[in-house]
Amino acid sequence: MSDIIQLLPDSVANQIAAGEVIQRPASVVKELVENAIDAKADSITINIKDAGKTLIQIIDNGIGMSDTDARLSFERHATSKIKTADDLFSISTMGFRGEALASIAAIAHIELKTKQENNEIGTQIIIEGSKVNSQEATSCAKGTNFAVKNLFYNVPARRKFLKSNTTEFGHIISEFQRIVLANPEVEFKLFHNNSEVYLLPKTNIRQRIVSVFGKRINQNLITVESNTSIISIRGFIGKPEYARKKSGEQFFFINSRYIRSAYFNKAIINAYGQILQPETVPSYFLFLDADPSTIDVNIHPTKTEVKFEDQQAIWQIIHSAVKQALGKNNIAPSIDFNQEQGFDIPILSKETEIKNPRIDIDHSFNPFEQKSTFSKNPKSSALSLEKENLANWDKLYDGFEKENQQSDDFSSFSNDNTQQTITDTSISEKYFHVKNKYILTPVKSGLMIIDQKRAHERILFEKFLQALSVESSVIQASLYPKTIELDAKDHALLMDIKNDLKILGFDIEDFGGNSIVINGMPADSNNQEPEQIIDKFLNEYSSGADPKTQVQEKIAKSLAKASAISSNQKLNNEEMREMIDLLFACQNPNYSPFGKLIVSIIKTDELEKRFI
Ligand code: ADP
Ligand code: MG
Repeated sequence: MSDIIQLLPDSVANQIAAGEVIQRPASVVKELVENAIDAKADSITINIKDAGKTLIQIIDNGIGMSDTDARLSFERHATSKIKTADDLFSISTMGFRGEALASIAAIAHIELKTKQENNEIGTQIIIEGSKVNSQEATSCAKGTNFAVKNLFYNVPARRKFLKSNTTEFGHIISEFQRIVLANPEVEFKLFHNNSEVYLLPKTNIRQRIVSVFGKRINQNLITVESNTSIISIRGFIGKPEYARKKSGEQFFFINSRYIRSAYFNKAIINAYGQILQPETVPSYFLFLDADPSTIDVNIHPTKTEVKFEDQQAIWQIIHSAVKQALGKNNIAPSIDFNQEQGFDIPILSKETEIKNPRIDIDHSFNPFEQKSTFSKNPKSSALSLEKENLANWDKLYDGFEKENQQSDDFSSFSNDNTQQTITDTSISEKYFHVKNKYILTPVKSGLMIIDQKRAHERILFEKFLQALSVESSVIQASLYPKTIELDAKDHALLMDIKNDLKILGFDIEDFGGNSIVINGMPADSNNQEPEQIIDKFLNEYSSGADPKTQVQEKIAKSLAKASAISSNQKLNNEEMREMIDLLFACQNPNYSPFGKLIVSIIKTDELEKRFI
C-alpha cells in the first residue's frame, strides 16, 4: 500500500490554528492591541466597521518592525518575545506564542504598514489568505498600522456563525475594556463606523475606570491595597449598595493580563458576606502582581484562566484584602454592631412589660383624596386592559366583603336576610397597608394580601406588552431634556431598542459618544428620575435572565420592574383601590412577570384555627 501521510501546507495549518486563536472579530482586536502594547505604544487607535466584519484597523505608535521582521511576523511560531524554553518562566509580554498574525493572515485580507523610529522609510505588506501579494517601501508614521478586512472571507462556516453586529461589537467592547483598564498609561481611541465610542487619555487607574464606566462610579470605589511576599494586590472594589445584578464590572488582572477565575471571584464575594443584596455582584477592579515564575504560563492562547503554585494562599490574601478594605470604610458586616445605628438587642428584665408584636396600619389615608402617586394617569393605566375582567375581579376571590355585605352577614345572625344597607361602595372599601408593602383586604374566603410592588410590575408589564404589540404609544410625560452618560455597551443596547422604548414613552436620542438625551418618559414612572429608571432598566435588561425571551417581552418586563413602585411606598386608600382594580383587570393577576406570587389569601378557617 502506498504512503498516505502528507504534511499539510502552511496555509491550511494556519487556518486550523486560526480556528483556535480567532473566534470572532473581538479576538482580532485583542491580539492586535496586545501586540501594540507589547511594542510599547502609548497611543493606540482602533477603527471598526460593521462590528469588525468589514474592517478592524489598529494604529499604534510603538517600536514598529524592520522590513524583514514585518515579513517574518506572519510566519507561524514567529515571535520576538521568547527565544528559549526558559524564557517561558519570565514572560512579561502579552503575547509570546507567535501565532496570532499567522492565524489572522490565513483568514482575512491584511494590509500592514510599519516603520521603526530611526528609519526614514517604512514597509507595506499586503497578504490575502496567507499569501503575500506585495511588499514595498512606503512612507508612514513611526509605529504599526494593521488593517484586517473581510474576516473569515474564506471560512464561510465561521462567517455564518457570527452574531448580530450589536453582539459582536459588544464582544469587542468587552475585550477593549479589559485591555484599557490594565493599561491606563496608554491613550486609546475607539471608533465604530466612523463615530467615536471611547476617547481615553493617558491617566491613572481610577480615572480610567471612571472614563470607561461613567462618572457615577467614582464615589462608589473603595481602594484595595495589600502587599505580601507572594503577591501584591491593588485596585478598587465597589460599595455593596452599588452591587448590581448584571455582571460586567468585575475585572481581575494578574500581571496586567485579564483573568477569569470563578475561584478568586468567590474570595471577593465571600469577603462581602451578608452585606450584598441577594443575587447582586459587586464591581471590582483588582490587579495582582506576582513573580511570573509562580504562574503556569502554559495556558491555552485564548484562555483567560491561570494556575498558581499556591492557589489557596492567594485566595486567602484576596479575601482578607477585600475584607480589610470594606472594614476601613465601615461597611464590613463584622463591625455593624459597634455602630450607633446597629441592631439593638433588648435585654429583658422581669419588670419589663412584654409588648405584643403589632401591625403598622396607615391610619392617615384619606379616601377622598384623588391624587395618585403610583399612576399619574389612571385613565391611561386602564386603557388597554380587559374591562370585563375588571368589573368582575372580586368574583375571582369569592367576592369582596364590602361593608354593606358585612352588614348583610351580620344581619344573617339575627335571622333577617332581607335587610339591605346601601352605602357608597367606593368609599367603604377598606384596605389596610402593612409595612408600606402589602395591601390587605377582607374577601369572602378570608383575608387577601397583595404584594404591591409585584402587583404594579404585573400591571405595567401587561400594559407595556400590549402597547408594543399594537404599537400604540403609552402616555408620555415630556421632560426638560436630560443627558446621561453611559458605557458603550449600554449605549449600543439602548440604541438597538430605541424604537420599542419610544412606544413605551421613553423618548431617547443618541447624543454622540456614549451619551443619550432623554426627552420624555412614561407617565407611569412613579416620580422617579429618568436616569434612575434607565439604570434599573439596563440592570434588569442586561442581566440576561432568559435568552429565549422575546426582545419585546424582555423590554416590557425590564421596564415594568424599573418603573414599578418600591416595596416601601406609602399608598392611600384610593391608590390601593386603583392598584387592586388594575391588577384584577390583568390577564394573569396572580403572578408577577418574573413568576413571583402577587396574591395570597389567609383562609377564614386558618384564621379561626388561630383562636381555638
Ligand atoms: P506574539 O505576539 O505571540 O509574539 P504575534 O503573531 O502576535 O505573536 O506577533 C508576531 C511578532 O510580530 C511579534 O513577536 C512582534 O515581534 C511582531 N509584531 C506584531 N505586532 C506588532 C506591532 N504592533 N508592533 C511591532 N511589532 C509587532
Ligand atoms: Mg501577539
